[in-house]
Amino acid sequence: MHFKTGGCKICEDNCEAGAIDHSKTDETRQLKVGAIVLATGFDLFDSREIPRYGYGRLPNVISALEFERICHASGPTGGKVLTSAGQPPRSVAIVHCVGSRDKNHQEYCSRVCCMYSLKFAHLVKEKTGAEVTNFYIDMRSFGKGYEEFYRRLMSEEVNFVRGKVAEVTNVSRSPEEEGKLIVVCEDTLLGLVRRVPVELVILSAGLKPGADTEKLNQVFGICRSADGFFAEKHPKLAPVDTASDGIFLAGACQGPKDIPDSVAQGAAAAAGALSLIDKGSIVLEPIRARINADLCGGCQICVANCPYTAIEYNSEKGVSEIQEELCKGCGSCVAGCPSGAALQENFEDRQIVSEVEGVLS
Ligand SMILES: Cc1cc2nc3c(=O)[nH]c(=O)nc-3n(C[C@H](O)[C@H](O)[C@H](O)COP(=O)(O)OP(=O)(O)OC[C@H]3O[C@@H](n4cnc5c(N)ncnc54)[C@H](O)[C@@H]3O)c2cc1C
Repeated sequence: MHFKTGGCKICEDNCEAGAIDHSKTDETRQLKVGAIVLATGFDLFDSREIPRYGYGRLPNVISALEFERICHASGPTGGKVLTSAGQPPRSVAIVHCVGSRDKNHQEYCSRVCCMYSLKFAHLVKEKTGAEVTNFYIDMRSFGKGYEEFYRRLMSEEVNFVRGKVAEVTNVSRSPEEEGKLIVVCEDTLLGLVRRVPVELVILSAGLKPGADTEKLNQVFGICRSADGFFAEKHPKLAPVDTASDGIFLAGACQGPKDIPDSVAQGAAAAAGALSLIDKGSIVLEPIRARINADLCGGCQICVANCPYTAIEYNSEKGVSEIQEELCKGCGSCVAGCPSGAALQENFEDRQIVSEVEGVLS
């Protein structure tokens, strides 16, 4: 463990495992490893991208993470749910699917927002007794015990309005709305536009790929799916593997998921990494590329083309070299090589020509 401040150091003296060392500083270490588990998580959708919801503009419109922080005992209000005026709210709106299932932002469902919104509704009721209204498109309570939790909330007299929120405004149209935030929404079950005045609005934003996903993607040479999260090798048969051997995925970096699913995937990824270590050897692809050093001009186009980062440029020899254990034999280097130095084992021109001649003879 590493602490920035010295403190009293009682913990250092008392820790039987000797895990605390106050003299340690930050350091960058290079480790040689045989397997990597990527578990870099997600970023929360920035609700400012939907200005009509008022986040960052209207006081008392808060994000889901801010609400989590407020509820925490070590948070700014000591765990009490309060408005910006320091009073417990008498009415709270929870807006689901902010940025999710939205063609203008993220088309996919973020999976966890329905359930964390229900958790918020329960917390608000428990802590303040306020009237809580959930604005949802569809309720997706998909996991074990989740539907029961949803039903329990309905019995706790939490309101549910089915419809996508059009806007959150502070422009009142009636004395009842004055000084409040008004959530405007088409109630698709009743078939009418509703204006619901509340004192606090929580925006349940969706999950999006982490900001450094692109950078990590380049470092590790793994693919991303259309939604920007890291892509697994096969959605059903290899859900924690990637197209690059030895690199595994766990948690929300692969797509939105809740804690139980992240933990399960983490255990599977660790098992995958251990099985590689346990075997002690790897089986190479029978079809892989090689570079004829005599022909290579050292242009490095193959280095840039290789999706598996399997090619390195040897500056001393002035040629590119294949790392056989990483090569998947995709042929990107062969197709792009201007000097014909990159060759596909068992698929060289002369072999293909011989095969064609054999077929035609
Ligand atoms: C508001 C909110 C409430 C939620 N409530 C619940 C709930 O009640 N129950 C539930 O089951 N789920 C809940 N979830 C979902 C839950 O947060 C996720 O399932 C969980 O965080 C996923 O875990 P993870 O480890 O994959 O990602 P994260 O929790 O995002 O952790 C990833 C970690 O990797 C670190 N990291 C990122 N990039 C790098 C890098 N390049 N190098 C080193 N480290 C890096 C990050 O700093 C972070 O610490 C909630 C989500 C939100 C947004």
